[in-house]
Amino acid sequence: MSVTQRIESIYAQILQRNPGETEFHQAVREVLDTLDPVLAKRPELAEAKIIERVSEPERQLIFRVPWSDDSGEVHINRGFRVEFNSALGPYKGGLRFHPSVTLGIVKFLGFEQIFKNALTGMPIGGGKGGSDFDPKNRSDAEIMRFCQSFMTELYRHLGEYTDVPAGDIGVGGREIGYLFGQYKRITNRYESGVLTGKGLGWGGAQARTEATGYGCVLFTAEMLRTRGEDLDGQRVVVSGSGNVAIYAIEKAQQLGATVVTCSDSTGYVVDEKGIDLELLKQIKEVERGRVSDYAERRGAGAHFVTGTGVWEVPCDVALPCATQNELNGADAATLVEHGVKAVAEGANMPTTPEGVRILQGAGVLYGPGKAANAGGVATSALEMQQNASRDSWTFAHTEERLAQIMGHIHRSCHETAERYGRPGNYVVGANIAGFELVAEAMVAQGLI
Ligand code: GLU
Repeated sequence: MSVTQRIESIYAQILQRNPGETEFHQAVREVLDTLDPVLAKRPELAEAKIIERVSEPERQLIFRVPWSDDSGEVHINRGFRVEFNSALGPYKGGLRFHPSVTLGIVKFLGFEQIFKNALTGMPIGGGKGGSDFDPKNRSDAEIMRFCQSFMTELYRHLGEYTDVPAGDIGVGGREIGYLFGQYKRITNRYESGVLTGKGLGWGGAQARTEATGYGCVLFTAEMLRTRGEDLDGQRVVVSGSGNVAIYAIEKAQQLGATVVTCSDSTGYVVDEKGIDLELLKQIKEVERGRVSDYAERRGAGAHFVTGTGVWEVPCDVALPCATQNELNGADAATLVEHGVKAVAEGANMPTTPEGVRILQGAGVLYGPGKAANAGGVATSALEMQQNASRDSWTFAHTEERLAQIMGHIHRSCHETAERYGRPGNYVVGANIAGFELVAEAMVAQGLI
């Protein structure tokens, strides 16, 4: 059997064993499509069935999460934790609370996390979790009861050396606080390193909140540098208005770019003068409002547009920072038509496979999420490091470490793509560089 046939048969088995999990299939397909040359060069990895093993989670947990709302009505949600791969360290990855969460979504995220975490060069394995719980319009007390119920089951599977969750969509500082409190209460241990994204006064790391967005922009700057450019004076379109989007906007502005958009599930804002970040933070982080409120309060110059058309706004750089499959083939074609130079993913798998093909085909610099958004989890690993040594670093020091890590990720993607004869292809670079690190550790640790 040729290497290509072998990979196709592995993929066919994955489809058969994981029916209906389309996002998981998509994430696996994208990685498998780049691994031919690795297997061709290293038959020992094929013999050890590394691809088959890496695409089967080490452990998958699904559990009931009962809770009662403020009126006393009982609700039942489903909780998930997929402990995907621990070759490089304890399972590490966020929790997502969103009504769209299914096992397939958690598996796609967990699968991506394995390679993303490897790319950071930090000692962290890959995992992901969450719930189909919808936090929208829930009171703080309801959020707290939900988090406590979720942790009442999950705690037995966690530990600073076992599995270390963090935030993702719908899970931020408030939720991590409630989850940590419940873990501490049940276990009677102040185990700081069991969760990351904690508050600054109780074990959290400086710059963790900013890290995913900042890292994404630093990665973009590195990509632009390979073509002798930087972000100064560039016009940037950002999607999303959550933690990743807000801090991508902040860093892009610091580097001299003008960011003209942000969005949420109802529509997007165009603000030609550049997003007023203080106003956006007030609305999103303090009031938990919508981007339409931003347009209203910002006044002349900014307007709100209903729907998903944010990619129609002309730009030099596009940063999808909202959610999976938010940038499709037609969107990519529009971006290319408008002369986009770089697209870097702050979200996980925001570009569809057709979108990726179009961007790469047009020679656009394209930074896949597992490289471009790895700054968040990398800074989580820095948080674990500080917790383990009972230390706490300054913002400047932590941000400097983040910048070094993003530089390292960019370099290893770039060099790996060159080494495999695909210069400038960051998908090939990220997948192969991440895969090789995980594969080597798996081979060394034997058949487990
Ligand atoms: N949810 C984030 C990600 O997609 C961060 C995970 C973490 O910090 O563990 O990488």
